[in-house]
Amino acid sequence: MTDEAWPLSFEFFPPKTEAGLEKLGATRVQLAGFQPGFFSVTYGAGGSTRDNTRDIALDIRSAGLDVAPHLSFGGDSEQAVIDLLNTYKTAGISRIVALRGDLPSGMGGAMQLVHANELVAFIHQHFGNHFKMHVAAYPEIHPEAKSYQDDIYWLKEKFNAGATAAITQYFYSADAYWYFLDQCQQAGIDQPIVPGIMPITNFQNLARFSSNCGAEIPRWMSQQLQQYGDDLESVRQFGIETVSRLCEQLLDGGAPGLHFYTMNQVEPISTILTNLGREAD
Ligand code: FAD
Repeated sequence: MTDEAWPLSFEFFPPKTEAGLEKLGATRVQLAGFQPGFFSVTYGAGGSTRDNTRDIALDIRSAGLDVAPHLSFGGDSEQAVIDLLNTYKTAGISRIVALRGDLPSGMGGAMQLVHANELVAFIHQHFGNHFKMHVAAYPEIHPEAKSYQDDIYWLKEKFNAGATAAITQYFYSADAYWYFLDQCQQAGIDQPIVPGIMPITNFQNLARFSSNCGAEIPRWMSQQLQQYGDDLESVRQFGIETVSRLCEQLLDGGAPGLHFYTMNQVEPISTILTNLGREAD
C-alpha cells in the first residue's frame, strides 16, 4: 500500500428532516478529519432537492471545505441553471459533478433529460474553466447503454466537452474496473477515473439499488450476505472486510483515489479508512 495521502472524497445526500441535517453536520465534521479533497452533495432526480443541495453545499463551503454540488438540468430552464452556478461561483465553489440524472418516479415522458456531455459543454460555455467538472463513469456499464463501447464513447464525449475527472458507479469487482480503465485508455481517455466505493450495511437495500443502477453484487458476496439474514453485525463485519480489501487492491493497482458513497454515515467508512492506514486528525 502506498504511504502517500491518496486523494479522497465523500458524497452526501440532502436529508429530508432537521434531525437528518443535524446528523449530517456531525458526520461532516468527523469525516473532515480524514482530510478529503472535497465533499460532494447529490441532486435529487429532476432537481427535486435543488434548494437543499445548494444550502448544504454552501454550508460546507462556508466551513472552509471544498465541495462539489451535483447538478443535472432536470426540468430547469437554462437561466435557472446559470443562476445556481453563479450562486456557487460567488460562494467560492469551483467543482461540479455534472450529470444527466434520471427521471423522477412518475414523470415518465414528461421531462426531457439532458445528457451529461451537453451539461458539461453548457457549463464550459458560460463559465469557461472556472468549474472543475466531474462526471459519472460505469465500469459495469450504464443500464441504458447501447453497448460497452458506446458507453465509453459517451464518456469520452464528456471529457471532450470539458470534464476533468470521472467518478465511477460503485462495483465490487476490481477486474471490472481494471478492464474498463484499459478500454478507456484505448479509446484515448487519459483523465482520472476515480472508483466510487459503496460500503455494505444492509443487503436488501443494496440488492434493490444495485439492480436499478446496473451494479453487480458478485454471487459469492450475495450468497454470504443472504445467509447472514438479520445478523447485522455479521453483515457489517463482512462488508468492512470485503470493501477494505477492494479499496486496498484498487489503491495498490494505481487507482487515482477513492470516492465514498457515505450515505451520510461515519461508519463503516471510518473503519475502512483506518484499515487502509488512513488516520483522522
Ligand atoms: P449520461 O452521461 O448522459 O449517460 C446516460 C446514458 O446515455 C448512458 O447509457 C450513455 O451511454 C448514453 N449517452 C450519454 N451521452 C449521450 C448522448 N449525448 N447521446 C446519446 N446517448 C448518450 N443521479 C442523480 O439523480 N443525482 C445525483 O446526484 C447523482 N449522482 C451520481 C454520482 C455518480 C458518481 C454516479 C456514477 C451516478 C450518479 N447519479 C446521480 C446517477 C446518474 O444520474 C444516472 O446513472 C443516470 O442514469 C445517468 O447519468 P449520467 O450523467 O451518467 O448520464
